[in-house]
Amino acid sequence: MSNISFINWDLPEHILDAIVAKGWDQPTEIQKDAIPSARLGRDIIGQARTGSGKTAAFGIPILEKTQPTGNPQSIVLCPTRELATQVCNELEWIQGDKGLIILPVYGGTDLEKQAKKLDSGVDVIVGTPGRVIDMTKRKHLNLESISLLCLDEADRMLDMGFWPDISWIFSNMPNRNQTLLFSATFPQEIIDSTDEFLNNPVTVMSDDLEVEVPEIEQKWIKIGRANKLWGVGRILINMDNSDQCLIFCNTKRMVELLEDRLGKHRFSCATLHGDMSQNKREKVMSGFRDGEVKTLIATDVAARGLDVDGVTIVINYDLPDNPEDYVHRIGRTGRMGKKGESWSFVGRDDLRQLERIRTTWNLNIIKSEAPELPSDVNRDPVRPRQDWAEASDPFGMVRISIDAGKNMIGNNLSLSEWIISQSKVKELAIGEINIDEHSTTVDIHSESAQRVLEILERREYNGNKLTAQLSNR
Ligand code: ADP
Ligand code: MG
Repeated sequence: MSNISFINWDLPEHILDAIVAKGWDQPTEIQKDAIPSARLGRDIIGQARTGSGKTAAFGIPILEKTQPTGNPQSIVLCPTRELATQVCNELEWIQGDKGLIILPVYGGTDLEKQAKKLDSGVDVIVGTPGRVIDMTKRKHLNLESISLLCLDEADRMLDMGFWPDISWIFSNMPNRNQTLLFSATFPQEIIDSTDEFLNNPVTVMSDDLEVEVPEIEQKWIKIGRANKLWGVGRILINMDNSDQCLIFCNTKRMVELLEDRLGKHRFSCATLHGDMSQNKREKVMSGFRDGEVKTLIATDVAARGLDVDGVTIVINYDLPDNPEDYVHRIGRTGRMGKKGESWSFVGRDDLRQLERIRTTWNLNIIKSEAPELPSDVNRDPVRPRQDWAEASDPFGMVRISIDAGKNMIGNNLSLSEWIISQSKVKELAIGEINIDEHSTTVDIHSESAQRVLEILERREYNGNKLTAQLSNR
């Protein structure tokens, strides 16, 4: 592979100076592959792993082509406000002293102020689709002057959720003549759909469907609802000062519940999700970037694109519904060759989803135990619990074994009648009973299992003390 440096590309001076001042000496793979074609005006589908410098791969050609005229000529669309801010900041320094006005346009900020800024002239827009449409309809933004459009996290921008908005933007941009799509993941159906709006694109892809994931040690733990909090406790108690942790939940409600519960166990965390005010979101993100916030609990708003180089641990408290999201979530750690680890919590019902994620991307996710307590800590920050639901079969039954056989127990009927009379559980809660020479098993619905087990241990059966425990099958 040739050893290209930025100097070989005869880039405009302001950009080259900025890059050199930043200390970058070589373009990354995706930058090498995509920038020359993009500079020639070609459409691009660019796929490269998380943290590989895709922002500059589209940013450099955009900044080169756009002139400080005060008319918008280029637009970058992103799925979240946080990402729009981050992309804006990166474009801002890469342009050096070219003097382009680069404006973030996303929701949750003062409409009037933003309108004023748009009215006074901009060259590059970086925004989220909703607010861009809003500003266009209010006539503060004229998409007709824009010729270059880029979708960051393109597969997300083209999926069902965003497509109606993107499609509206396309149709209001009659002079679009170059389109750049970048993401770490491109499902085939998304690539197929790009025929409609790309013109003979240059496709830059890593081999096959195999996404290369950075050096992240990916682990999964078999753990059900009841003990996920315990699992988080084990991971957080092992963090040292240089660690930062990002915990993903699938719903806003779970994010808040988890913050609350961890708070009760004296773990301080911040949260990020779409229902928070823009002000709060910005505060949280800057605290996380500064390293002031060590642990952030978030929905997938934080999964895409965010570049916080201190993140060393990602926890999937819930496994994501989409295999794509898994790759993006864990890609928040291991940035630019740094080390990272990810922990996925997988309950009985999630095993198939884990398999789907693993096979979609051909990932090496290793079965593991929760980390041990550090040597100077002798008590779990969160106590583990018997997780009856996790131990149950598909009908919700768990098996209890009793260290006594025929002689002591008698027959099925006498045992079940005794359990019902003593524990007041419903007859339906008792399943199969098996009485052997020296041992007995009885299936109990998981909701009643705790109660029955206690009764078996405390009360005498025909004048005898029994020992019983959950049987592992
Ligand atoms: P991606 O979008 O592919 O996930 P980013 O564009 O967010 O990655 O870049 C990840 C990090 O790498 C950023 O902090 C960025 O500034 C840095 N970076 C990008 N290109 C280079 C380069 N050529 N040399 C050194 N650092 C780079
Ligand atoms: Mg990115």
